[in-house]
Amino acid sequence: TDLAHIRNFSIVAHIDHGKSTLADRLIQSTGTVKDRDMKEQLLDAMDIERERGITIKANTVRIDYTADNGEAYVLNLIDTPGHVDFAYEVSRSMRAVEGSLLVVDSTQGVEAQTLANVYQAIDADHEIVPVLNKIDLPASDCDRVAEQIEDVIGIDASGAIRVSAKTGEGIHETLEAIVNQLPPPKGDRDAPLKAMLVDSWYDAYLGVIVLVRIIDGVMKKGERVKMMSNGSVHLIDRIGVFRPGMMPVDELGPGEIGFITASIKQVRDTRVGDTITHEKKGAEKALPGFKPSQPVVFCGLFPVDSAEFEDLRDAIEKLALNDASFSYEMETSAALGFGFRCGFLGLLHLEVIRDRIEREYDIDLITTAPSVIYHVYMKDGSHFELHNPADFPDPSTIDHLEEPRIKATILVPDEFLGDVLKLCQDRRGIQLDLTYAGSRAMVVYDLPLNEVVFDFYDRLKSVTKGYASFDYQMTGYRQDNLVKMSILVNEEPVDALSTMVHRDRAETRGRAMVEKLKDLIPRHMFKIPIQAAIGGKVIARETLSAMRKDVTAKCYGGDATRKKKLLEKQKAGKKKMRQFGKVDIPQEAFISALKMD
Ligand code: GDP
Ligand code: MG
Repeated sequence: TDLAHIRNFSIVAHIDHGKSTLADRLIQSTGTVKDRDMKEQLLDAMDIERERGITIKANTVRIDYTADNGEAYVLNLIDTPGHVDFAYEVSRSMRAVEGSLLVVDSTQGVEAQTLANVYQAIDADHEIVPVLNKIDLPASDCDRVAEQIEDVIGIDASGAIRVSAKTGEGIHETLEAIVNQLPPPKGDRDAPLKAMLVDSWYDAYLGVIVLVRIIDGVMKKGERVKMMSNGSVHLIDRIGVFRPGMMPVDELGPGEIGFITASIKQVRDTRVGDTITHEKKGAEKALPGFKPSQPVVFCGLFPVDSAEFEDLRDAIEKLALNDASFSYEMETSAALGFGFRCGFLGLLHLEVIRDRIEREYDIDLITTAPSVIYHVYMKDGSHFELHNPADFPDPSTIDHLEEPRIKATILVPDEFLGDVLKLCQDRRGIQLDLTYAGSRAMVVYDLPLNEVVFDFYDRLKSVTKGYASFDYQMTGYRQDNLVKMSILVNEEPVDALSTMVHRDRAETRGRAMVEKLKDLIPRHMFKIPIQAAIGGKVIARETLSAMRKDVTAKCYGGDATRKKKLLEKQKAGKKKMRQFGKVDIPQEAFISALKMD
């Protein structure tokens, strides 16, 4: 296809504002998919993504569209990941297209995630077409939301297209706007090949599938291509486009988006943002902006039943095949035995992986406290990155510690602003900005990442009844007074519960944790002290008293079935416990103890 008849675009939207529904409607109305083959939400393939309404992989679809001017166009839609954890992946897919549809729910308005993604689109020099969705609903207020888009984002929304992705109203206008308002891609067919690696994933039959955007040159089946970041060479054995199923093509030229396979075994060998060129007569310089994404949150994953360690290894290896940003290494813990220390792009990423292991591989897991990466500077002048509080060195040998900080943007209705400010303040936040847009406030905070990784998002949701939206980006490292807090159960340190905390918060946090644990650990036949300590110094303590009676004694004599049921329930409960010395600690204690109310 010649460049003038190609349009590449993405859809920017906050969760639930209708990105997937709109994409489906565009695909369907152009006959790309026959009505009878239309499944709801074609682009959100994975179950967990569907359930959570998020997209993790950048999906793409090529749409043929004959415009009102009589010309035939190829429209390539990239559905970008919809969550802050995947900001780098989003930025790469944004670089692969020239324009964006900014979809805003006209019954709701602009949200934090809309903002974060629209800034990415602006950064990538996109032409942006505002789309007001859900106009079929009585609560729709297009004038108000258009005004808000102008106020908050600062782009002209007077020509915003009014759409119902549900009824199909406005879909034709949207297609015309894509053709008439978005610029065609640029590129040089005769220049050396430069293709941007937008995304990749593992397929059991085809191996790794690589999504590419051709910038310059032409790519064909049978050619030998090179990844410019590491020089590895691969033979292209398939080349095609998504409609949305795979369809082979002879070649991909400038401005086009499609896939290749090249007998690549691991997703790890294909880094998002890399430049692909020909092995011979290749491009000299790679595309700018490549930066392999690095995990920022770490935690230990241990099987509840230690016999399942090999199954866990298998599950983790399989998941890692398909996820270059998920890292893992074996870890042994005095308390938990064999497991893995895993690295994630963020909390959602952690939850997605953990859910998949539990659900798809049916392994019960103990997840240890998530930790960020600290920079530890030693008195002898050396320094290292601390990924695991268990590796914390003798405090007397440390000169100082640095922790990662983020810039968080929160949008919230006025009435909840006070609670949000309090929450941020409690989490050691520094307010950077506070502005109003209509009846909503936008606050920007500088926060330590470690105060956010655990339950910040849950807390934010609960204090604002779900009305706040949140987004963040990493800003850098800063020195602070941080210490390692250990938890001792029955005088034994439980390394899986140790955390890094700010010195000023240690007492409060320690007290909260031991109180929680006291409720979470069942009584035993003996007294159990539960303590929080920094170095050798105990800062909080609770005692779990000994159990007196047999549990079944409560049941009135004779009711054998009831007695049996109770015993069975106890047995099932047992399965989810781990022994620490002489003490059984239930699985949920590891997560619940860390939640702060
Ligand atoms: P996404 O998270 O942005 O991909 O949002 P979805 O496309 O999954 O839509 C979220 C919810 O809004 C779903 O229940 C959709 O059926 C619904 N929805 C999307 N567009 C419209 C619309 O135009 N009108 C109405 N009434 N509902 C819509
Ligand atoms: Mg969606």
